[in-house]
Amino acid sequence: MEVNFDLLVSGCHTRCRHCYVRGGPGPHMPLMDVVDCILALDRLAAALPWPCSFTLDNEPMGHPGIEEILEAASCTRHVRYYHHGMTTGIGLMARGDRERVMRAYLDRGWRDMGVTLHGAEERHDGIVRRAGAHRAALEAARFMKSCGAEVNVSLMLNRYFPEDAERIDRILAQLAPSFIYFAIPNYTPHCRMMDFESCRADMGALRQIASHLTVWGQEAENLIRGAEEGTIRALRERLGAGLRLRELFREPQGEMYLTVRGDCRLYMGNTGAETACLGDVRETDAERTAEIILRSPGNRDYGAFYDPESLPGEEELASALDRLNGDLLYSDMASAMYRGLAEMGVPTRILSL
Ligand code: SF4
Repeated sequence: MEVNFDLLVSGCHTRCRHCYVRGGPGPHMPLMDVVDCILALDRLAAALPWPCSFTLDNEPMGHPGIEEILEAASCTRHVRYYHHGMTTGIGLMARGDRERVMRAYLDRGWRDMGVTLHGAEERHDGIVRRAGAHRAALEAARFMKSCGAEVNVSLMLNRYFPEDAERIDRILAQLAPSFIYFAIPNYTPHCRMMDFESCRADMGALRQIASHLTVWGQEAENLIRGAEEGTIRALRERLGAGLRLRELFREPQGEMYLTVRGDCRLYMGNTGAETACLGDVRETDAERTAEIILRSPGNRDYGAFYDPESLPGEEELASALDRLNGDLLYSDMASAMYRGLAEMGVPTRILSL
């Protein structure tokens, strides 16, 4: 089993339609609380027999104490800091001390940084629901690069990509990122995920941008072939071929996600999909909390979100999928499955926080 703790130190600056982690603007966790939580996670990791890592989210670069936070993150003995470097850029570019912030990352060896683009300016700002967000992301990318960071771009597919593709070409040519990720948004049973569905791309949109995929550094043919596995149609076919829901949802999983929210409470489940509260991580007994975690199953997919007993029959799910566009594209079969279950209103294990 691998364990990841998501430590929510700061709200982000956008309200993305596709956000499955309960993001959005929010207060900073007080610096001393952040440091105490990191120390508590280190004690908890020492009591667990598995490799443990933690991430800083939602937008740590906006936290006024980020230098001290990174120092604390670099001193843990049992829990490893997992750096992803993704930022909206808004918090960073609003700071007068942004060069020092970058230095704090780079001096500790965390060189990879990234921004997400949802297309050209108007579309991007509409999807993240913040005017000026596209401009800030590009400014931040250029700034981070000028400081010596490796800057990556994550292109998050939506149905408007065919219209925006040539402008995306130009943006990427100017930015010259170190790497371009091409992401098909997932779907988790979070109540806000439905907000993105009207923007979701289908196979037709993906095929229309095939020639651009190559320009964006992707292996177009492989990508398109692989993407087909995440369509509603592919899931429908799997059900027709005998996929058994309860067996799938009971399969053991090798990853465990936990979240520490801004009030220092530790939850089972990834951010946005918390299923149980284990108390204030600074005050709970590490050995006892470790015992609870050890008794819990992995929670990356399927059974993490739904009680297998509450699942519909395969034929009922197949009928629900038939009401959706079969070409709709999800990141994988699990996401397509959750979309079908949401269509049926199947209750989840996720807490309303
Ligand atoms: S996807 Fe990320 S940047 Fe967007 S609202 Fe969620 S946490 Fe914030």
